[in-house]
Amino acid sequence: MDKSEIKKGSCPTCKSNNIYSNKNNATRGERSTIAISSFKWFRLDTYVCLNCGYFAEFIKEEDLNNSKTTDKIKQEWDLIR
Ligand SMILES: [Zn+2]
Repeated sequence: MDKSEIKKGSCPTCKSNNIYSNKNNATRGERSTIAISSFKWFRLDTYVCLNCGYFAEFIKEEDLNNSKTTDKIKQEWDLIR
């Protein structure tokens, strides 16, 4: 199962195409960030399957490609080996 299938509009568990995302919404719910430190966070895009209830969250690509944010993770968090 490839979780990222849901980003293309296909549910990885039930294969339905009944997928919705808040990635283009300006207003966001409280689940929509991961705190990295007091002043830095990743914003999340949420995808839900309205058929089976599966959902997945991914860090926004802009944040993943922002070295100020990712450098902070490297400083503050532990690399898992
Ligand atoms: Zn589903």
